[in-house]
Amino acid sequence: MSQVFKSTRVLTAEGLRPAALFVDGERIARIQNWDDVSAAATVHDFADAVILPGLVDSHVHINEPGRTEWEGFSTATQAAASGGVTTLVDMPLNCIPETTDVAALEAKRVAAQGKCWVDWAAWGGVVRGNSEALPALAATGIPGFKCFMIHSGIDGFAWVDEPELRLALAKLRGAGLPLLVHAEVAGPVINATDALSAAGADWRRYSTYLASRPDEAETEAIALLIRLAEEFETPIHIVHLASAKALPMLAEARRRGTRITVETCVQYLWFAAEEIPDGATEFKCAPPIRSKGNSDALWNALEEGQIDMVTTDHSPCPPAMKRREEGRWDQAWGGISSLGLALPVMWTALERRGSNVPEGMERIGSWMGAKAAQLAGLSGRKGVLAPGADADFAIFDPDAAWTVAPEHLHFRHKLSPYLGAALHGRVLQTWLRGEQVFSAENFIGQPRGKEKVRR
Ligand SMILES: [Zn+2]
Repeated sequence: MSQVFKSTRVLTAEGLRPAALFVDGERIARIQNWDDVSAAATVHDFADAVILPGLVDSHVHINEPGRTEWEGFSTATQAAASGGVTTLVDMPLNCIPETTDVAALEAKRVAAQGKCWVDWAAWGGVVRGNSEALPALAATGIPGFKCFMIHSGIDGFAWVDEPELRLALAKLRGAGLPLLVHAEVAGPVINATDALSAAGADWRRYSTYLASRPDEAETEAIALLIRLAEEFETPIHIVHLASAKALPMLAEARRRGTRITVETCVQYLWFAAEEIPDGATEFKCAPPIRSKGNSDALWNALEEGQIDMVTTDHSPCPPAMKRREEGRWDQAWGGISSLGLALPVMWTALERRGSNVPEGMERIGSWMGAKAAQLAGLSGRKGVLAPGADADFAIFDPDAAWTVAPEHLHFRHKLSPYLGAALHGRVLQTWLRGEQVFSAENFIGQPRGKEKVRR
C-alpha cells in the first residue's frame, strides 16, 4: 500500500521545504514536489505542520528486564512516541542481568517482545573482567558498547580503569563499533566529596553536590580517552558531556583526526546550576548540571559542530529513591526523567537563541536524528527523510504553546524537573514505519516496535 505524506515544511536533505514523501510499505520510496501527488495513493496532508524524521535517542535507561518498577519497554517507548522519537538505544546497566554477555542480550530481547511502541536497539556493556565476552556480543548486531570510568550506581556493572579500557579497546579494534564512555574519573570526585564532608557541608544544597563532582573529573577522563582513541583507532564516544572545560582539548583532537564523538544532554542546555533549588533532587544527574556560563559554552560548541548530538539520558527510578523529603543530594538516586520532552524543549531553547523554524528544525534533525542514528549504526535508515529510510515521522507544530503537566508525561513515574516548564512546539502525531502510533496524547494500534540491528 503506498501512501503520501505532504506538508509545506518537510525536513529534507536540502532543508525545510514543501514536499511530498511517497511511502511504500514501511519505507520512504521517494521525495516529490509538494503538488506532485498521484491520485492512486492515500494522501496525508499536514498543511503547514512540520514533518521531521522520527528522532533517535541514543541514550536512555529502560530498566527492563529486572527493574521494571523503575521504567520498562512499554512506558519508555510510549514516552518516546509522544515526543516524536521513533528509535531508542538502551543502556546496558540498569537491567538485570546487565547486558554484558550474549545471554543477557537475549533476555532483553525476550523482555521487549510485544511491548515496544517505537523501534529500539541495545548497547552492550564493557565492565571489569568481561573483555573475553565482547567479540561474541559484537557479533549479535548491537551498535556498540558502553562503559563507566567511575562507580555506575549499579554494583553489577563494574567501572573500568585504564588497563581494563585497553583490554576492551584491543578486543574491539577493527570491529568498527564505538565505545561509549561515561567520562568522569573517581579521584577528583572522592577528594572533593571527602573535603566537603570534613568541612561539614550541607548536602541539601545544590552547590554542595555540584562541588562534589568537579570539572576535573571530566577533563581528566577525557584527556585519557583522547590518548586511547589515538592509540587504538577504535571510535570513542563521550556520553553526556557536561563540562565546557573539556571542549578545547576535544576540538584539538578532532582537528587532528582523532575518532572521538561527543554528545551533551538536553538538561545541560536547558537548566543551569544557579536556578536549581536546594533539595530538588529531581535535578540530580551525573555529571551535574553546571553554571549558566558553562551551558552557554556547550550551546556554542553544539552550534559550531564541536558537539555532535543531543540525547536525553532519560534515567528514571521509583520516586522514593529520589528521597525528596530529606532532599540530600548525596543520598538521592542520580538520573533525570525527560523522555518525550526533548523536541519541544530544544526548539523552545533554539527559538530563544534566535533560530527561525527552518534553522531550528535543521539543527534538531541533525543533533537528534541523523547524528544519533549514525552513532547507533542506523545511518540512512533512521533519523532522516530520504529514499530507503524507514517511514518514521514526527509531525510538529512549532507554534503551539503549552505547559508541561503530569498528564503529558508517559514514562512510568511522573517526577521530572521539566514539570511546569512553559514550552513552544508540540508533537501532533508520530508515525513508525508507515503507521501512526501516536496522536494528541493517544497511542494508536498495537506495539509494533522492533529491534534494529546493525547491518
Ligand atoms: Zn546514562
